[in-house]
Amino acid sequence: GKTLLAKATAGEAGVPFYFVSGSEFVEMFVGVGAARVRDLFKTARENAPSIVFIDEIDAVGKARQKGNFSGANDERENTLNQILVEMDGFTPSDHVVVLAGTNRPDILDKALLRPGRFDRHIDIDKPELEGRKAIFAVHLAKLKLSNKIFDLKNRLAALTPGFSGADIANVCNEAALIAARNDDTSVKLNHFEQAIERVIGGVERKSKLLNPEEKRVVAYHEAGHAICGWYFRYADPLLKVSIIPRGQGALGYAQYLPGDIFLLSEQQLKDRITMSLGGRVSEELHFDTVTSGASDDFKKVTNMATAMVTQLGMSPKIGWINYQKKSESDLTKPFSDDTGDIIDSEVQRIVNECYERCKKLLQEKAADVEKVAQLLLSKEVLTREDMIAMLGKRPFPERNDAFDKYLNESETKKLEDQEQDHKNTPPPATAE
Ligand code: ZN
Repeated sequence: GKTLLAKATAGEAGVPFYFVSGSEFVEMFVGVGAARVRDLFKTARENAPSIVFIDEIDAVGKARQKGNFSGANDERENTLNQILVEMDGFTPSDHVVVLAGTNRPDILDKALLRPGRFDRHIDIDKPELEGRKAIFAVHLAKLKLSNKIFDLKNRLAALTPGFSGADIANVCNEAALIAARNDDTSVKLNHFEQAIERVIGGVERKSKLLNPEEKRVVAYHEAGHAICGWYFRYADPLLKVSIIPRGQGALGYAQYLPGDIFLLSEQQLKDRITMSLGGRVSEELHFDTVTSGASDDFKKVTNMATAMVTQLGMSPKIGWINYQKKSESDLTKPFSDDTGDIIDSEVQRIVNECYERCKKLLQEKAADVEKVAQLLLSKEVLTREDMIAMLGKRPFPERNDAFDKYLNESETKKLEDQEQDHKNTPPPATAE
C-alpha cells in the first residue's frame, strides 16, 4: 500500500521519482552509506522538481542508542546523520519532496520526525474492503484472466479481510503461478482461491501422509472448531475446512472471514475463545487421549483472555485498568503481585467458562460433529456449501456485509451462468 501510494504521488506530480530502500544504505564499508545518501540527494536536486522515496526507513532511521560501545552501529548512524544533514540543507527553492515509508514508526529516531524533516505523517492501515478492491484492480490488470469470472475484484476483496497491499500482490502472483503450473492459458477463480489459501495457511503438503488414526484426530479436531463456529452467534463465518496438512506444522486448517471489524464486543471475544477451544474439546470427547495439535489454539485463547482482563476492562475483579506493557523489552510488571494473582485467576475463570460452554455445545451437537468429521475424512475439504447442505443454514444472519453481497454461492453460480457468453468487464483504466 505505502509503495503504491508513493508511486501514485509521483505519477500525479509528473516529476522524476527516486526510489530507494533504507536497507540499500546499510553496508559493511564505512562511509559508503553516507556517500550514497549524498549522491541520491545531489541527483534529486539536479533534477528538481523531484520526489525522493525512502522505503523501510527504519533500516537506517532506528533510534540512536546512548552509550553504544560496540561501535557496530557507527556506519548506520553516519548514514542517518547524513540524511538529517541533507534534509536540513534544503532551501524553499529546491523543490525536492522527500517521502519515506516504514512499518515501525515507533522505533524511528526522534530527530527524523522534527519539523522540516519528516514532519507530516500519514498512517496507512491495512486496506478495508473498498481499498482491497482498488488494489486488486491494479494487480489484476496485469494478469490474463479467464473471461468467465464475474465480479472478480469484489469477490477477491471479500475473501481477503486483513490482507495488506503486499499480501494482495502476492495472491495475484501466486494465482498466476498456479495457473501456469496447471498448464491453463488464463487465470481462473479457483486459482485465486488456492492462492489465498496458500497465503493464509502455507503450502499444501500432499507428500506429508498422516496415518489413518492421526487423520481421524485431525478430522474431529477441525469438526469441533467448525461446529462451534456454526452455532455460536458471534463466531466468524466459516468459509472452508480442510484436513490436508499445510506448511509449518498445521495439520488441519479452517478459513474464516472475520470482516473489517473495529470493535469487538465481550460476547464476540468469548465466542472466539470458545471456538478456538472447540478443537481440543472435540478430541477429548472422541478419543481416550488428547494430542499436541491444539497448542496454537491455546496461544490464541490465552492472548484473548489476557487482553480481556488486562487491557479491555472486561473483568469485574480487575476493573477498568489497562495493564499493557509499554514495550516488549519492558521487564517490570506494571502491577503488584497481588493483582498478578487476581489477573491469573480471572484469565483462568474466563477460559474455564468458555471451556464449559464449548463442551456443552459439542455434546448437544454430537451428531453434527460426527457428520462433519465423517465427511471431512472422505472429502478432505469442506466448503460452506457442504456445511449448509449437512446442517442447514446458519441460524443467525451473517454480520459480514461483503459476505452476503459477493460470496453467496448459489447467487454467484447464477451470475456465472449468465456471464458465460459475456466478456469479463474490463478492469478500470485507473484505480478509483
Ligand atoms: Zn485447532
